[in-house]
Amino acid sequence: CGIVGYVGPQDALAVVLEGLRRLEYRGYDSAGIAVVADGALSSAKKAGKLANLEKVLADQPLPAATIGIGHTRWATHGGPTDRNAHPHVSADGTVAVIHNGIIENFAALRAECEATGVEFSSETDTEVVAHLLAAVYGSTPEGPGRLAEAMRAVCRRLEGAFTLVVTHVAEPDTLVAARRSSPLVVGIGEAGDGTAEYFLGSDVAAFIGHTKQARELGQDQVVEIDRTRGLTVTDFSGGSVEPKAYTVDWDA
Ligand code: GLU
Repeated sequence: CGIVGYVGPQDALAVVLEGLRRLEYRGYDSAGIAVVADGALSSAKKAGKLANLEKVLADQPLPAATIGIGHTRWATHGGPTDRNAHPHVSADGTVAVIHNGIIENFAALRAECEATGVEFSSETDTEVVAHLLAAVYGSTPEGPGRLAEAMRAVCRRLEGAFTLVVTHVAEPDTLVAARRSSPLVVGIGEAGDGTAEYFLGSDVAAFIGHTKQARELGQDQVVEIDRTRGLTVTDFSGGSVEPKAYTVDWDA
């Protein structure tokens, strides 16, 4: 339902929670967040209002991070429970995924993962993406852009409508997102210390007040946001794409 991502020098948890609050108007039944910090992926998720998630975070704080993703869910596959809330983390703990939309062929993909011994921990269509990404990542050549390459390979196998945002423990400065028939916008700003910061949102409300400079992703595109390499957009085959730049008019 609602998607927020942040890469930059600010406290990612605070920025992502603020973005989720801005998206509350869309309606949702659960919420969750993941950050990569200190060589580890940490996440928290909870059914019900954002206040429920905030209580979990107060009891078990996530580490300070400069990269984070957040989701408000509107359940389509699997009831609105804690386990079915996003992010979904791969069985090996390396990948976290948030998703808007529906993966139409999830049942076949899930059976394929289960045949390799993967145990699922939710009833969602989304979770299969986390396991597939973890598996594909392992066989993708090392080097910059590895997570984006794995994302493209997984997206080529997905049917349906999706906005996906993923983070990998081995790439602590990188967020990768993809979209097909579901919206995704990127905000590019400058933080107080003069360095670049990047926002991902299912709509621009996710980064209202932070920046007016936006990029719209087209159909079947993958965006990699890296703190040092910046923004790279491709199609699902890896062909380079120039994203459409526009200025958000908050007053409109
Ligand atoms: N189909 C996914 C689920 O049920 C995502 C729903 C959404 O867009 O929030 O978990």
